[in-house]
Amino acid sequence: MADIVDPEPGTVYLVGSGPGDPELLTVKGKRLLERADVVLHDRLPGPEILDGLSPERCEDVGKRAGGERTPQSEINERLVELAREGNSIVRLKGGDSFVFGRGGEEAEHLAEHGVPFEIVPGVTSATAAPAVAGIPVTHRDHASSLSVVTGHEDPTKSESAVDWEALAAVGGTIVVLMGVKRLPDYTDALLEAGMASETPVALVERATWSNQQVATGTLETIVGARDEVGIRPPAVTVIGEVAATRATVFEFLANETASETTATDGEV
Ligand code: SAH
Repeated sequence: MADIVDPEPGTVYLVGSGPGDPELLTVKGKRLLERADVVLHDRLPGPEILDGLSPERCEDVGKRAGGERTPQSEINERLVELAREGNSIVRLKGGDSFVFGRGGEEAEHLAEHGVPFEIVPGVTSATAAPAVAGIPVTHRDHASSLSVVTGHEDPTKSESAVDWEALAAVGGTIVVLMGVKRLPDYTDALLEAGMASETPVALVERATWSNQQVATGTLETIVGARDEVGIRPPAVTVIGEVAATRATVFEFLANETASETTATDGEV
């Protein structure tokens, strides 16, 4: 293996952390995280990754006291300031920085201010959260396309940037990020647009974290399942035939784990 290289002084590394399991960080992301002078992060990378960082190098730029978000403009300015002081900086985001992560805005700001930066992609929750729940986002028999959308907007607003009607027509798999609260609104919108009420749906909360939770149902029943399981953000919603694959895949995986447990019984 090549020598381990330190991050460059005065450079910002836009690093995606993956969904939360430290082993799903990229090798490059891990090296930079361990060696950067400063790490700017919010809470989305999850406790396992964040607790592994030395606190004196970390700046939490997520929610501030009082609960409101640190404005993006402040984060942008802080990145430039730290870089001009000669620090190497990791800007750590959950999943991939360029998938609903505002990494694009940060990259533009750094470019405009002549600050050198590097983009280090991460494993996005859009595909990883379904995957660890036993759901492939594409499948030759069920889905040949994947749409990744935000569920944060009010689907009844005419200026909504997400066209649910068009999505219902496209079919394939729909993965919704930031879509726990508005689940009733967009499942209704999809039903109204003509999607079948028995279309399988799954919610995967805190994928790869120790308190991961999954709820499954159909377009008609998923809101009840969400409430029964107590699904809270961060979670992804998977809508489409592929969501039903979990039943077969997961049953097998659960049996494997059960037999592993049996096999080690008596040794502890
Ligand atoms: N850049 C991130 C997405 C940021 S938007 C990525 O690529 O994954 C925030 C949303 O991401 C959350 O509301 C949730 O929908 C999703 N998310 C991020 N991490 C998650 C995780 N570990 N489990 C489930 N959903 C997650």
